Amino acid sequence: MLANSNAYLKEKNLIGGEWVDADSGETLSVNNPATGETIGTVPRSGKAETARAIDAAAQAFATFRKTTALERSKMLRRLHDAIMDNQEALAQLLTQEQGKSLFEARGEVGMSAGYVLWFAEEARRSYGDLVPSPWADRRIMVTRQPVGVIAAITPWNFPSSMLARKIGPAIAAGCTSVVKPASQTPYSGIAWGLLAEEAGIPPGVINVVTGSASEIGGEITRNAKVKKVTFTGSTAVGKQLLKQCAGTVKKVSMELGGNAPFIVFDDADIDRAVEGAIAAKYRNSGQTCVCTNRFYVQSKIYNKFVDKLAAAAGELKVGNGLEEGVQQGPLIDMKAVETVEAMIADATKKGGKIVAGGKRHELGGSFFEPTVIANAKPRMKFTKEEIFGPISPVYKFKTEEEAIDLANNTEYGLAAYFYTRDLGRAFRVSEALEYGLVGVNEGVITTVEAPFGGFKESGLGREGGHQGIEDYLETKYVCVGGLGM
Ligand code: ADP
Repeated sequence: MLANSNAYLKEKNLIGGEWVDADSGETLSVNNPATGETIGTVPRSGKAETARAIDAAAQAFATFRKTTALERSKMLRRLHDAIMDNQEALAQLLTQEQGKSLFEARGEVGMSAGYVLWFAEEARRSYGDLVPSPWADRRIMVTRQPVGVIAAITPWNFPSSMLARKIGPAIAAGCTSVVKPASQTPYSGIAWGLLAEEAGIPPGVINVVTGSASEIGGEITRNAKVKKVTFTGSTAVGKQLLKQCAGTVKKVSMELGGNAPFIVFDDADIDRAVEGAIAAKYRNSGQTCVCTNRFYVQSKIYNKFVDKLAAAAGELKVGNGLEEGVQQGPLIDMKAVETVEAMIADATKKGGKIVAGGKRHELGGSFFEPTVIANAKPRMKFTKEEIFGPISPVYKFKTEEEAIDLANNTEYGLAAYFYTRDLGRAFRVSEALEYGLVGVNEGVITTVEAPFGGFKESGLGREGGHQGIEDYLETKYVCVGGLGM
């Protein structure tokens, strides 16, 4: 399958309904991480193009804000249908620029459609309040209205669905958007512009710019017309954007890094735990912010769990995501491979024992073997740092209290998982974990109906669930007086 035969591979930016190049004519090339081949190019836009995209969004907002919730709900339904009608083409594009298996890419595109449908429904339920008034002659109304122009900056690991969580609620609320997809995976982001056109969403409601992250991010955060920035990416960049947004006091939503613990208690169903572990760890080659970073296994079952996990990891089929049956694609680039290698070297130097994988895959390029490291210790790098690759470090613990302390001993607080068959323990531990998402006997829990977001330095705000539209709405209190009672 030739990438450029894909109808959704568009090498332009969308600004105010026009498909355009960068002012300079400069481009960035986009590579397929499975083959190293260039798929195509995208504009290398900067400050000026971003400012124009913001102006286009501001202009569109003047009329879009007046649309009814029902109209916007119908637009989102059409957008959902456009995504599902083209699921296969969008999934193939995603696999080619990102590397994940086609199976996972289809799932991600389905998830994108799911978010859009969810927010099509939520659009009609942005209720306000009529509050009992302390004054006989006045009435207190509390209403919700769109915040205005929002800017969305997204990463390469879920280039389609991370935008769905932002574009969906933005349209539902009546906001217009400027979107900056990651430079490694811009086509799945640009595709939202094509899909919006197909769905009859008015020009300027969604604008897409690709190019220099610092120039685009600089303009987005400086420009007073942008009322809200929603970011998914690394904690380091998130902190920088938070500082930059301070100048114009923008609303911010941040989905940042994680350091997910996965605790297996002695009383757990071990086979179920291993199955959950494989999904929670090796999905997207370990490159998700909710991927397990640390396995904590109680001493009695430690050896048994390690053996079973190593066997299961060894069975994962690694390869080009476009080939049916492949479970783990390449890492995003060679830098990611080097990071993973450095973590393994650090762990083995400090006493870690490789029981599965441990090195670059024989396929070459950025393919890496699914790896399990037993005898993991707190002093190893991955205890504190996000791995973002297919390594499972397995630590041993003795008591429930110790497991909770170890799990919480991080500045992150996104996802946590644990396995137990004791109901009391299930409640105790889920309440003690300082995490925004907790899977009890489940390794993959993200769904459009539930709020996604982190405690501590993992972020601010929630995406999905009924909470997911909150950050796109302002609350207005209107006092109507002089009623003469
Ligand atoms: P990752 O490690 O997942 O690549 P990053 O935080 O580096 O995470 O990137 C996430 C998104 O943030 C990407 O779209 C990237 O281009 C963008 N980005 C990176 N640096 C900046 C910056 N200084 N300002 C704005 N956006 C940025």
